[in-house]
Amino acid sequence: MSIELGITGSGADATEAGYGSADGGGARLPGASAGPAHATLRCYAELNAHLPERWRHRDVPLGFTPPVTVAQLLAALGIPPADVELILVDGASAGLDAPVADGARLSLYPVFERFDVAPLLRLRDTPLRTPRFLCDTHLGKLGRRLRLLGFDTLLAQDASGEDPGDDALVRLASEQHRILLTRDRALLARPSLTHALAVPQAPVDAQLRDLIERLHLQRAAEPFTRCTCCNTLVEPADPAELPALPPGVLARQDRFWRCPGCGRVYWEGSHHRRLRGLVDDLLQ
Ligand SMILES: [Zn+2]
Repeated sequence: MSIELGITGSGADATEAGYGSADGGGARLPGASAGPAHATLRCYAELNAHLPERWRHRDVPLGFTPPVTVAQLLAALGIPPADVELILVDGASAGLDAPVADGARLSLYPVFERFDVAPLLRLRDTPLRTPRFLCDTHLGKLGRRLRLLGFDTLLAQDASGEDPGDDALVRLASEQHRILLTRDRALLARPSLTHALAVPQAPVDAQLRDLIERLHLQRAAEPFTRCTCCNTLVEPADPAELPALPPGVLARQDRFWRCPGCGRVYWEGSHHRRLRGLVDDLLQ
């Protein structure tokens, strides 16, 4: 089937280029005569790249003929559903098969969150998705702190032990949907790099605090769940099955975790208590 979509009200322009519908039927944009029903659409962040220039970053009044689902609307607009993380219809989360009613207001948010999405995500019980990171070669310490908070974080040195080079970092960030953290302005200026953050020159805990606040990471953190050395999730371990531990540790501790990646063993020693204080301070 094909659906007809038109921009209505101010900005309507019958000469606007046509849009293909889901079956490639090529619905034209017939302006305000598009249909008896009207909806308002707003795309956020990089989803705007799918829209004509003058529809971007603004409310777009659409005319259509019901019944129309969100998926059909996206198809007619040329927005790939795979690029959309969150669909709000009149403020409530909706699926692709949700019908678009007359008067509906649709908000579309991209898969890879930009910062204007974060305040919205905070309204939910849990974030839709936990950001993942890639730290350049100068931010290894910050990367290990992020792991301490439970965030999936690759360090640039992980792959080879050497600086993999800017091209490899940009490619890895893109392929794995990781936010590249760097202090390198030239790297940040790469046009192919879509998800990156400049990290301020500051002590590591100040860098971490800045990142937590900018990305609203407090509720996404799962401290002490990940190996700070190799990024693998740690598992509870039976001390009887662990390699020799210092006798004092065995006497004082009864809970242990082991990293299945590198074999490192963790327990809640004095170092852990200091880190716990740091984590509690950062996440409060
Ligand atoms: Zn490990």
